Amino acid sequence: MSTRQVYLLGHPVRHSVSPAMHAAAFRELGIDARYDLRDVPLDDLGLAIARLREPNVLGANITVPHKQAAMPYLDEIAEAAAEIGAVNTICNRQGRLVGYNTDAPGFLAALAEAGFDPRGATVALLGAGGAARAVAHALAEADAAELFILNRTSDRAVSLAQALVARFGARAYWGLPATRQQLEEWVPRCALVVNCTTLGMHEPVSPLPSSALRPGMLVVDIIYNPPRTRLLAEAEAAGARTQNGLPMLVHQAAAAFALWTGQPAPVETMRAAAQAALAQGV
Ligand code: NAP
Repeated sequence: MSTRQVYLLGHPVRHSVSPAMHAAAFRELGIDARYDLRDVPLDDLGLAIARLREPNVLGANITVPHKQAAMPYLDEIAEAAAEIGAVNTICNRQGRLVGYNTDAPGFLAALAEAGFDPRGATVALLGAGGAARAVAHALAEADAAELFILNRTSDRAVSLAQALVARFGARAYWGLPATRQQLEEWVPRCALVVNCTTLGMHEPVSPLPSSALRPGMLVVDIIYNPPRTRLLAEAEAAGARTQNGLPMLVHQAAAAFALWTGQPAPVETMRAAAQAALAQGV
């Protein structure tokens, strides 16, 4: 068999640490495979996905903006990915393409690293975009007791909360506008706060007033670059525990690697490769 191939399909796909993580993992396990970036405009997505059926292709990652648009081109979608409404991983199973979402298990594995058990927890989720949908689904699946979803566009938060009620039953899921008043009211009563907005990625702003932070809570910012966002700096100053987005990034990649290869991923090798790539400014 010729060299196996995995692609990252997105538009644009610059600045990704995924090739470094997967190349290191293939090397460590002695798998003859490559992970390459493919910049694919929406008009070419169907053709790019059709090519994943070729025998030497193990599969692909799908990134912004194609996580929803890829779904109609697949033969099968795993239940959780269908519920989340997004795929980030495709496996080529003898010419049949199966879609998965590994952000959700990746997030739960990262929480476990932080020693946090979401069962019965009260959680504030900031954002209602693609990543927030995966995180919300993971938390509901893991039996979080209450979930306050706070988003700039409150309609999106409300519809995400309604989707969770429809799927998981009438547990306490709330969709709210991310106003200062709502954030100060609901966030301080939570054991876990997760930032799934892009706020803090491009400039040093926080999605939360620091007055909402409390000692002892765990604050997770799924942004991994920069590694210490303003939210995390303020959370530390308030006596909270913190985690950035690197553990989730590594674990979502590890879950995808295991799906493609059928082998457990070398997580620490992938983490070291991601850290090295980020340090080099990838
Ligand atoms: P997305 O679907 O575009 O959602 C963006 C979210 O941010 C929405 O809730 C949006 O609110 C909010 N937002 C954007 N600009 C805002 C502003 N100026 N003020 C207030 N809210 C704002 O993006 P995504 O794919 O979910 O990604 C979100 C973040 O997660 C990114 O930083 C991404 O890098 C990170 N991420 C990390 C991992 C990981 O493995 N660590 C995995 C996936 C994503 P509206 O609904 O009001 O527009």
